[in-house]
Amino acid sequence: MSFRDSEFVTGLLLDSGFALADSMENADIIIFNSCSVRKHAEDRLISNISDLKLLKKRRPGLIIGLMGCTAQSYKSKILERLPILDFSCGPGNESDIPGIIKDILENRGIIVATDKIDQMRPELFPAYREDRYKAYVSIGEGCNNFCSYCIVPYVRGRERSRVAKDIIKEVKDLAGRGFKEVMLLGQNVNSYGKVTSLAGLNAKTYNFVHLLEDINSIKGIERIRFMTSHPKDASTELFKAMRDLEKVCEHLHLPLQSGSDRILKLMNRSYTAKKYMKTVEEYRKYVSVGSVTTDIIVGFPSETKNDFGKTVKMIKDIEFDGAYMFKYSPRPPAKSSGLKDSVSREDKEKRLEALINLQCEISLKRNELLTGKVFDVLVDGENKREASKFTGRTGTNKVAVFDGSKDMIGRIVGVKIESVTPHALKGRVV
Ligand code: SAH
Ligand code: SF4
Repeated sequence: MSFRDSEFVTGLLLDSGFALADSMENADIIIFNSCSVRKHAEDRLISNISDLKLLKKRRPGLIIGLMGCTAQSYKSKILERLPILDFSCGPGNESDIPGIIKDILENRGIIVATDKIDQMRPELFPAYREDRYKAYVSIGEGCNNFCSYCIVPYVRGRERSRVAKDIIKEVKDLAGRGFKEVMLLGQNVNSYGKVTSLAGLNAKTYNFVHLLEDINSIKGIERIRFMTSHPKDASTELFKAMRDLEKVCEHLHLPLQSGSDRILKLMNRSYTAKKYMKTVEEYRKYVSVGSVTTDIIVGFPSETKNDFGKTVKMIKDIEFDGAYMFKYSPRPPAKSSGLKDSVSREDKEKRLEALINLQCEISLKRNELLTGKVFDVLVDGENKREASKFTGRTGTNKVAVFDGSKDMIGRIVGVKIESVTPHALKGRVV
């Protein structure tokens, strides 16, 4: 989502007459986009921006700006921590960045813009895209779930869905420009359209599955992905659509967070481990070749060895294809920041390492089952690590590495898998 926001703002600036610099040292304006979901990212951001003090001293005309969730979270207080900033702009105000920069160029003031947290973004459709064949398309903003550990609802505001006709217009335009794959983005895509007061849609008459159907019929688009699904909203209807709509990829990212019902309750996730398991079983029933990935947090306040053991058991029982795993960090004003951060750093690290090792074994085991099979792979480009090799993704979102040629880039080719690692499938084009 942050990637899409950066691309969106870059597009707006290009449309307003600015140009991309070839390096940070040569730029007249430097904008940092920020994520505040975990503390580590925020700490690195503060130190990276502080590192520019010398550059700013050498070039007093340089404009340094901050956008994204950290800007929203700190509002004007960010200037106490980062006095070198010229502007700071929350996610809801990002469309105003070209105007903010023009104001600064004319008046040289410092601008903090964080008042539009709950507003729909104006539909500006900047053309710029970082990729040539795959595009991120935002279908909504904000979140109403208030998972107790999560800062997102406080920095991206209440959930609101983009009007479907604007999303479809954007995807049709992308298809016309040769894009093959769209990734639909929202904090909880399955609740698309449910919160209608801000979206201007008819309550409950147009939902996420309808959107998938409409995008599925757009000529030129060959693959549709989406992220993220909350387990409470991932429905049978969705799984049937994944089975029946030929362009919708067979991959579900379904964050589990913890395998312990006690912790899930404290996290305000509104499902139990058993219910989650049932959802995955149902998904696998309908989308038999489908992959499942997840997010896990270790060391949530009061997580005992026993709770952690339940997470380990869930991971073993479900056998995810992949998992993003994180150490818990308190994110005020999210509710759990009021609980004692009781699991020590060492224990969090140990638990994280154990899970990473376990997931690696499982990913390898699952990938081994794919040896000898042929997959459709959308070719991304040359493999950065291995000269002469090319890389792309299967519909199940696995990385494939194979001998290829430049003319394959942006096309879907068949790849027969010959060997695997936990993180990639290796093979040859057939
Ligand atoms: N809306 C998405 C993304 C949320 S942020 C979703 O619901 O899945 C991505 C992941 O960051 C979360 O799934 C969670 O695993 C992790 N995360 C969020 N807050 C965190 C915190 N305070 N500490 C550690 N990990 C966190
Ligand atoms: Fe955060 Fe939960 Fe919303 Fe995801 S669903 S953004 S984890 S509050």
